[in-house]
Amino acid sequence: MLRPIVRLGDPVLQQPAATVTVFDAELDRLIDDMIETMYAAPGIGLAAPQIGVPQRVCVIDLSIGKQGGELITLINPEFLAREGMQLEDEGCLSVPGFNATVARPGRVTVRAADRTGQTRVIEATGLLARACQHEIDHLEGRLFLDRLRGLKRDMITRRIRKLQRTGKW
Ligand SMILES: [Zn+2]
Repeated sequence: MLRPIVRLGDPVLQQPAATVTVFDAELDRLIDDMIETMYAAPGIGLAAPQIGVPQRVCVIDLSIGKQGGELITLINPEFLAREGMQLEDEGCLSVPGFNATVARPGRVTVRAADRTGQTRVIEATGLLARACQHEIDHLEGRLFLDRLRGLKRDMITRRIRKLQRTGKW
């Protein structure tokens, strides 16, 4: 089922998400809905808070479903390592229409459970490393805008406030 994606301004995007403790049919449904919603958007990643569910679940697929086997589901993810630096353009389905260059580590090691509850370790570089960090940020209540320097962030925030005032957000 497609779920509406919440936008910047919804408090659920700014609160830390809760650890998943039960791996059941309800969690399966949530993950399936997240995958469907991510592909439809279309986007390469989606975190549960973005559909209003404050739980530590995110999905990533750099191929947006065009290639089998690229889908990654991260439940209760945590970083084991973060190294290097990359500087790339980044956007977010909850901040549509706005992009900015964000500095992030270039290589990460993430430990997370899959939907069956089995723990996996994923090593990622480049765009996948960036996507992991972007989505895990969502689980901490953080948006890519929070990683920008003041001036750029203020400019985007001002423009979004204006859209909100005129009912276009
Ligand atoms: Zn995002």
